[in-house]
Amino acid sequence: MPELPEVETVVRTLAPRLTGRTVLEARFYSKLVMRNAPDPPITGMRVESVKRLGKNILIALDGGILTVHLGMTGKLLIDAETTPHTRAVITLDQGLLLYDDIRQFGRITWGEQLPAHVAALGPDALAVSAEEFIAIMKPHRSRIKPLLLNQKLITGMGNIYCDEALFRAGLHPRTNAQRISRAKYTRLHEAMQQLLYLAIEKGGSSISDYVDTEGRKGSFQDFHQVYGKEGEPCVHCAAPIKKIVLAQRGTHFCPNCQRP
Ligand SMILES: [Zn+2]
Repeated sequence: MPELPEVETVVRTLAPRLTGRTVLEARFYSKLVMRNAPDPPITGMRVESVKRLGKNILIALDGGILTVHLGMTGKLLIDAETTPHTRAVITLDQGLLLYDDIRQFGRITWGEQLPAHVAALGPDALAVSAEEFIAIMKPHRSRIKPLLLNQKLITGMGNIYCDEALFRAGLHPRTNAQRISRAKYTRLHEAMQQLLYLAIEKGGSSISDYVDTEGRKGSFQDFHQVYGKEGEPCVHCAAPIKKIVLAQRGTHFCPNCQRP
């Protein structure tokens, strides 16, 4: 599933291509993906900006917002050929924006404002300050990893980046959030944002079939230190990386570097 860095990569590619363009025609072919096709249609509207909040892509037009969540297999492509999996085609005065989605877990939402589920999200993981981060996390008596994954607290952290950030901060994924010191939180916040920036630089992680808008694969998977490394030696201490299930998610950590 695309996570924040993959979505940011898509947004950075899309923004210069879409901003200022005018919609000539918009066709939505899947009621699963697009449940509220714009009525009246968005024809003639101009793209004002393309931004990201968490894993949502916000395409702001001068009459409303198209919010795109890529789900598992969604892809926004520019000037690509249509396929049997093309779920939306937006023709612009220059170029064509396609939404392809094999499994159709992605969602496109149209509205004058942000949809309620997006407005309810916490601050973006890349934008949140260390102070804000501590204020949000520390009051909770839950384990840290499920809190990092809770999009209403902070948005944009997915399973891979949680495991990698906790490893870099030396925190066991089961640590009680109230018991984490401010110093450790500062380290976790720094690890989280450094990791996200690195992943953006590397074009995201290409596991499964993620590609950016121009069909390129990311290379951040080469920098994973614990995710998908069960049984392999820890890069710091050589202890075998462990995998457990926590809050229904496969969770990777070093039992030596990340003591509970
Ligand atoms: Zn270790």
